[in-house]
Amino acid sequence: MNEHTNLSLAQMDQMSLFHPVTSISDLQKNGPSIYTAAEGVTITRDTGATLLDMGAGLWCVNVGYGRKELVQAGAEAMQQLSFQHFFGGASAEPTIRLADRLLGLFRDTVPGSDMARVFFGNSGSDANDTAVKLVNYYNNLRGKPAKKKIIAREGAYHGLTLASGSLTGIKSYHTAFDMPLDNVLHTSCPHYFAFGKDGESEAAYTDRLITELEDMIAYEGADTIGAFIAEPVMGTGGVFLPPEGYFEKLQDVLDRHDILLIADEVITGFGRTGNWFGSGTYGLRPDIVSLAKGLTSAYFPMSASIISTRMWEVFENASDEMGVVMHGFTYSGHPVGAAIALANLDIMERENLAGRSATLGPVLLEALRTRVGDSPFVGDIRGIGLMAAVEFTGFPQGAAPHKIVARHATVAGVLTRALPYLPVTSFSPPLSVTEAEIIEAADRYARALKAATPELEALMK
Ligand code: PMP
Repeated sequence: MNEHTNLSLAQMDQMSLFHPVTSISDLQKNGPSIYTAAEGVTITRDTGATLLDMGAGLWCVNVGYGRKELVQAGAEAMQQLSFQHFFGGASAEPTIRLADRLLGLFRDTVPGSDMARVFFGNSGSDANDTAVKLVNYYNNLRGKPAKKKIIAREGAYHGLTLASGSLTGIKSYHTAFDMPLDNVLHTSCPHYFAFGKDGESEAAYTDRLITELEDMIAYEGADTIGAFIAEPVMGTGGVFLPPEGYFEKLQDVLDRHDILLIADEVITGFGRTGNWFGSGTYGLRPDIVSLAKGLTSAYFPMSASIISTRMWEVFENASDEMGVVMHGFTYSGHPVGAAIALANLDIMERENLAGRSATLGPVLLEALRTRVGDSPFVGDIRGIGLMAAVEFTGFPQGAAPHKIVARHATVAGVLTRALPYLPVTSFSPPLSVTEAEIIEAADRYARALKAATPELEALMK
């Protein structure tokens, strides 16, 4: 591509594309960043520059870019049966096998789980919308039509459709969109580093959160609350690891009040935390599990919702009376997506990518701590498996030091994500990343931090 073609492509973009989650004025000023190719962990820009993608796209390319095996699986599936819907009992082999395999994987890796069926969709957002609708369906069928409110958490990210975006607990996603819907409540964000009080132990902080939740349930009335939704590790909020004992105590409160647990594993599913599922890492016993991203490593847009036996039994028992379950999408269970997902799971298993995530997680943390841990701008470095965060500290409210560093990081040849809730940069490389790539990325990030220092100092004043 020559310079002129690039320019006109950028202009065409600016004049025709409505980008998601993008500032219109920034795009007009700076133009788009156009990418042309990717292989493994490395992505290439139209300028010819290559970058290490320490975000795996948007936490989604778990097996890395350019996997021919997935291309082939998709091509073969398209040749065989390019589309099949699943309405009215229609079905197809790859999707049947994928549902069976997901149930088996979840059962084998999440102790105490009891899941019965898998529903397919297209994205993390619609999986969470499905979860909300199934909570309503469940409680309507049980004769508890008032039990519908959903408790989510501040700082949570669950998507951006009307329902999932309402569950999201980051105000900037709500402003000017008349969100959240009023059946959604938000309880405090569990992030000890930023929100624990001086002198408060982590265990005491957890107890404070749990008491707040109990108070919220008592105030609203347990008979009005259908479900609690949680990411096992909060991703977009800032890679918040649950504080000590959090999920154990949470689970107990939910059990006592007959409140369902929705585990949003859109990021944590498929190896990100060092196990197949974050529910396994933290001992969750969910009734609905939302999956997307790593399900196909983003080679195809596909989501899955795994449903517990206790919910399924209610659906099954009411079936004669209710008839058709009036929920689903054209692409629910798409056989091409399912074939790609199966091939993706083959890679995950063959290369033990969940185990690799567990092994390389500490390498990533150590690489970041030794290179940027002493910076006066950095308050905390944390993570589990291959999801890690650098949190900046000491800046005025609303300042975005992490965005300045991210800009320099792009120049230094590493893509990181500057997150929208707190001044946090996340690192979530493909699980196929090598140790050498992790070290190189951390080196580049350290160079970026150094280059950003004058701007960060100015921001402090
Ligand atoms: N849940 C979580 C935890 C997510 O991180 C995301 C996407 N970042 C979503 C849901 C929404 O997924 P999608 O963008 O595919 O709708």
